[in-house]
Amino acid sequence: MGAAKEGRVTEEMIIVAREEDESPEKLRQRIASGVAIIARNNRRENVQPIGIGEGLRTKVNANVGTSIDLCDVNLEIEKTRIAVKYGADTVMDLSTAGDIDSVRQRILKEANVPVGTVPIYQAAVEVISKKGSIISMTEDDVFNAIEKHAKDGVDFMTLHCGVTRETVKKLGKHPRLTGIVSRGGTFLAAWILHNDRENPLYSNFDYLLEMAAQYDFALSLGDGLRPGCIFDASDWFQIRELLTIGELVERARAAGVQAMVEGPGHMPLDQIDANVRLEKAVCKGAPFYVLGPVVTEIAPGYDHIVGAIGGAVAGLAGADFLCYLTPSEHLGLPSIEDVKEGVIVTRIAAHAVDIVKLGGKARVRDLEMAKARSQLDWEKQFKNAIDPEKAVTIHARVKPKSSGACSMCSDFCAIKILREALETSGECLK
Ligand code: SF4
Repeated sequence: MGAAKEGRVTEEMIIVAREEDESPEKLRQRIASGVAIIARNNRRENVQPIGIGEGLRTKVNANVGTSIDLCDVNLEIEKTRIAVKYGADTVMDLSTAGDIDSVRQRILKEANVPVGTVPIYQAAVEVISKKGSIISMTEDDVFNAIEKHAKDGVDFMTLHCGVTRETVKKLGKHPRLTGIVSRGGTFLAAWILHNDRENPLYSNFDYLLEMAAQYDFALSLGDGLRPGCIFDASDWFQIRELLTIGELVERARAAGVQAMVEGPGHMPLDQIDANVRLEKAVCKGAPFYVLGPVVTEIAPGYDHIVGAIGGAVAGLAGADFLCYLTPSEHLGLPSIEDVKEGVIVTRIAAHAVDIVKLGGKARVRDLEMAKARSQLDWEKQFKNAIDPEKAVTIHARVKPKSSGACSMCSDFCAIKILREALETSGECLK
């Protein structure tokens, strides 16, 4: 952001601009003003820089990471590999068990895409294991964890800076149906309530900015008070936190630090558009990173689809970055197959948004697919499919009686019948 403000077009800007079929100068201007960011720490030179924000392709993040109940580093590495293979633009390591440093370092080594983390998890987990409770965490514990992640080259960090003492104290008198559902938000809220002190990430925000500038990581301003059910959507807590985050975005920009903003959460479909516009207005166009939104509560096992529906609506309204959900959301730690499903479904939502948002340059494969379908060219259809393996498997499941067609209509294949009719009548398909 510093270079962009000085009017310099960096190598990363050139790479992202080429990827996005955009002018490097236009991208530089967007980065300088903070409406777009490039997520890549300069410690990770072999990683593809990714642009997130205004005028750029909608990006997809996949979460991986260990938990106390299933702490298998190799499994998380494989999930990282699968997530990237199926189209995740970034990966976040949310590990809370095992040797967290080593898991993070291995994920950073495996992923050739930007990696994000939530350092408060590690600070809290380590304090709880050493001292028995989150309330004993010190400000140094928090900033030491951030520095550790930064030194490893983490590209962006979720930091719940907007969970303030004022908002948390109100929770007791004005309870929400699902309270706080963000892990980081809850760790901080418990600490604030017990110690009756301000959130260290908020009270030391200038120090945080110094670290971000020094170590070259982007801030992802976490929504610790996001609604955890559709009945808490757009309430005072969510909007109050957003207003605080809006002020912090301005301070980050003034310090030359890239910042994006995380958003809801659970939300009925008809509130998403207004929420995205509100974020863009309050945070002066900062890139918006949405978690879902989850648009209904009653589909456990299918929450990747629920999140993709919300993500598509949010993307259309201007959200820039979609965090995937998997079929395991609200139920357990995702499997490798869940990660694959989650990435693909979210990728579809992001692409559907880009067809509208970016027009022709996002429609190249769709055009190829439409032509291939009209020509009954199956190889070309598989080549242009988001998940070719699945398309091949389904097509091969039942062998069609009629050559060229598929088993859906077989002899009654509409495309074939029309083509034969035109050929017989002497008319030519152009
Ligand atoms: S058989 Fe039916 S579904 Fe299959 S390609 Fe022809 S028209 Fe399409």
